[in-house]
Amino acid sequence: MSSILVVGSLAYDDVQTPVERRTGVLGGAASYFAIAARLYAPVRLVGVIGDDFRDEDVERLRARGIDLAGLERRRGGSFRWLGRYDYAMNTAQTINTDLGVFADWRPRVPESFVDSDFVFLANIDPDIQLTTLRSVRSPKAIALDTMNYWIDHKRDALLEVISRVDIVSVNESEARQLCDTVSIPKAARQILAMGPRAVVVKRGEYGAVLFTRSFSFWSPAFPFDEVIDPTGAGDSFAGGFLGHLAECGSLDDRALRRATLHGTVCASFAVERFSVDGIEAATPDDIAGRYRLLQELVNV
Ligand code: AMP
Repeated sequence: MSSILVVGSLAYDDVQTPVERRTGVLGGAASYFAIAARLYAPVRLVGVIGDDFRDEDVERLRARGIDLAGLERRRGGSFRWLGRYDYAMNTAQTINTDLGVFADWRPRVPESFVDSDFVFLANIDPDIQLTTLRSVRSPKAIALDTMNYWIDHKRDALLEVISRVDIVSVNESEARQLCDTVSIPKAARQILAMGPRAVVVKRGEYGAVLFTRSFSFWSPAFPFDEVIDPTGAGDSFAGGFLGHLAECGSLDDRALRRATLHGTVCASFAVERFSVDGIEAATPDDIAGRYRLLQELVNV
């Protein structure tokens, strides 16, 4: 089966929702992605943690069979993110970002990872994403996620990475900010014009839209009574999306549509609990069950 390489943040998050607050919980784009994608395919992780990173959290990732040969531990603090959500629970307001050991780190992709079939450049410094790209041989597809922090701080490097990837995943406010337009379809067309063959725009409780040059596909969000913590929804979405592509080994239009539903399903597990607890608790059977329900929802 195809393998997936992920590079991105491993973090401790402080998360505030209107009803609850959690401090120092396991987060980071790469953590969410790896746990979700591992439900579908072998996953290899490249990232860095500080000396404050708990061994038990490394074990949580290892226990799932995620290959951690590319995980470095360095002296210093781990990446920390403090985010807050209002009652709409759609977009996080970043209160503080502390890059910690990620600040001057450059990834070293182990020799055993260079033949990875799929690559996910999770949300992290675009220069780190570029270095990773240069280290892999000839993947079938490369996907990228980013956020406002990097659009603000590293726009040029980000535009360069975007021009070299196959799939871009952003949320709607990031798409608008990146392309300086209020229109999501226009923003998607602009991103496609930069080179990628597919763009996924995540719209929180309103679902996700996949755009390619020949079609677009809309997935509703999985219907829920209550979202507990939206953190990691996007990364878990990407895990399900790329996980499905790796599992089926195809990038055709139908596979991309199905991948959009798988992304939606993984995101639904992520938001059910704080931190990675929700996606960590999901089993392949749970995924299949919600996939069927979602399929019924979009069928006429
Ligand atoms: P998501 O909610 O899917 O967009 O991702 C949330 C995760 O991204 C959190 O667990 C954070 O630790 C991580 N994160 C937040 N800001 C950044 C950033 N600027 N770069 C990399 N990762 C980040």
